[in-house]
Amino acid sequence: MSLSFDPDSLSLPAGHFIGGRFVAAGGEIPMQRPSDAKTYADCPIADADRVDQAVQTAKSALKSSNWGGIRPRERLTVLNRWADLIEQEAETLARLEAVSSTRPVGQLVAGDIAVSAEQIRFFGEFADKEGGDLVPTDDGNLGMIMTEPYGVVGAITPWNFPINMAAWKLGPALAAGNAVVLKPSEMTPFSTLYLAELAVRAGIPAGLVNIVLGDGLTTGTALTGHPDIAKISFTGSTRAGAAIMENIARTGIKPMTLELGGKSPQVVFADADIEKAAAAITASITANAGQACVAGSRLIVERRAAAPLAEAISQRMKTVIPGPTWDAASQYSPIISDRQRQRIDTIVKAALAAGAECLTGGFAMDGPGYFYAPTLLSGIDQASPAVIEEIFGPVLTLQTFEDEEEALTLADHPSYGLAAGLFTSDLSRAIRFTRRLQAGTIWVNRYGRSRDHILPTGGYKQSGIGKDLGREAFHSNRKSKSVLIGL
Ligand code: NAD
Repeated sequence: MSLSFDPDSLSLPAGHFIGGRFVAAGGEIPMQRPSDAKTYADCPIADADRVDQAVQTAKSALKSSNWGGIRPRERLTVLNRWADLIEQEAETLARLEAVSSTRPVGQLVAGDIAVSAEQIRFFGEFADKEGGDLVPTDDGNLGMIMTEPYGVVGAITPWNFPINMAAWKLGPALAAGNAVVLKPSEMTPFSTLYLAELAVRAGIPAGLVNIVLGDGLTTGTALTGHPDIAKISFTGSTRAGAAIMENIARTGIKPMTLELGGKSPQVVFADADIEKAAAAITASITANAGQACVAGSRLIVERRAAAPLAEAISQRMKTVIPGPTWDAASQYSPIISDRQRQRIDTIVKAALAAGAECLTGGFAMDGPGYFYAPTLLSGIDQASPAVIEEIFGPVLTLQTFEDEEEALTLADHPSYGLAAGLFTSDLSRAIRFTRRLQAGTIWVNRYGRSRDHILPTGGYKQSGIGKDLGREAFHSNRKSKSVLIGL
């Protein structure tokens, strides 16, 4: 059966999901489909009372289910059942996500959803394997580090990879014995709601996974400032991350994990395999139309390799096949909103006015949806907004260097340090350079994650605090207690 579907005939989950059931709520935020610009639904806004209801529900569910105190392997068993259900329901989940987001339905089934199920299993496996520690002390004492769940974790996710970001938050928090109140993006809430429904069907006690819908200002602020939310796990922009830190400072200190924005460089030396580099670089800036935190948006290339590399990338950029996210043949995503597309175009046009050269793209594509052509800009300097700002679109800037020092200077962004790519056939240089690059993730002779979920992800500088994925994500969902027993 084809995955393609009619977006007008899809039935959408309605309301918040609290205590294992939908709580009806009137829509307040008009939602537009990025693929055809049609207004098709309204997203409700949970106020402080609704958020409190979700938090209190989570607290009582934790108590009645004893989720944090049951045999840890039972948590793993239920999480595995949830992952099985996610795989079985992949098509429904994909449609609910594709209708509102920029993710093409085919990529969702083969990629985001399959990976999310795998990652939930990955996190589940920590439940009965990672705990505290016995530490060395003198003979007169016994020292232990005990770990315990926080309680109710507050999670907030962005619109660019909705189901996958929800899995990154829910998986480790639940495996570690917590309950969660999650606020998805007001632009893409439907797949997360269905994910929560599947959690209950899998046997995760009702009330451990609660979804409150709404915007950042009302719902997000109520959630991050709630006194009974013990920990915050956030993915989104650096601007919103800063607002959350402020709110937490005002309402009561609590730990937080912040996965924020990026402006990641891709450094290419002339000794690299140029065709291979071109393929990886193009994929990294055209995937989800550049709307990825780790999009490799700054190409920094050794001068003598610049012309052939630019040509190879331009050729590849011209082959993208745009199409609505509900068409199984579509490969190239729309931009999330008209406003965001205009912002991309404004930055590109300003760079051109300042003397940059557009090697390909540089225009909004025809069609009812918000598509923007993959764009390569050269002749651009380090201070240009196109080089400094996170454009969150399919725009790649090209700068050239003569030697390693210059490459490093260009690669170093004044505020972001999320990821970086490095292409060279010189092993010593790869290691030397990797040591000096200021980024939380570095890919050498490739760009983008593999399915090795053990590698944590997180930013240097203002790209974030703490890690998602890896052991770190599990451990950041448990607090530790040092115990010293006098013998
Ligand atoms: P955003 O910051 O506008 O919104 C993200 C989420 O935060 C949404 O759910 C939003 O409603 C909520 N929010 C906004 N303001 C808030 C506030 N003051 N308090 C609480 N919640 C608030 O980001 P976006 O446009 O949805 O997503 C794109 C951004 O996310 C980009 O900057 C991208 O780099 C970043 N991102 C980072 C990662 C990562 O792993 N580092 C992954 C994906 C996306």
